[in-house]
Amino acid sequence: MRKVLYPGSFDPVTTGHEDIIVRACALFDEVIVGVLYNPHKASGAFSIEERLALLRAVTAPFPNIRVKAFGGLLVDAVRACGADAVIRGLRTMADADVEVQMARLNRQMGQVETLLIPATPAVSHVSATMAREIGRFGGNLTGLVPESIRRQVAETLAKQQ
Ligand code: ADP
Repeated sequence: MRKVLYPGSFDPVTTGHEDIIVRACALFDEVIVGVLYNPHKASGAFSIEERLALLRAVTAPFPNIRVKAFGGLLVDAVRACGADAVIRGLRTMADADVEVQMARLNRQMGQVETLLIPATPAVSHVSATMAREIGRFGGNLTGLVPESIRRQVAETLAKQQ
């Protein structure tokens, strides 16, 4: 049974993340979507509990996806959930520069392998940072966050101006 961990901040989950999750789901027996957070840092736009709830709503149709929070190092999260590898999404070559360095570091630290999946062109421009900015100014989040959670995300962000 092949298990993979997809880590990120998911603040909030976007259509870009959703694309990677759905594709990973077809490749692995089990996909664990991990909300990684730094216990020493203030939380982002959405609390960890809110991010988990949004991710659970989006991934509900897929029986082989689990959503969990992990505080601390990625290599420890991989060990804790018994994943065989990590997946990360690549939007641009700038992402690739950073991700390849992270992948090497995690392999050195914990023998963790990372698989990099290129974004589908239709969502390669989508980022949680931009979704947060647009949502805080009351902009339209269609296509940026999954439709099933769009209203909830828009309402939370609109209160944060
Ligand atoms: P963001 O960079 O949007 O804040 P995260 O830090 O939660 O997102 O990133 C989690 C993972 O998802 C990373 O591997 C990141 O490269 C990937 N990712 C983010 N947005 C997209 C996208 N639009 N398409 C593909 N992968 C993405």
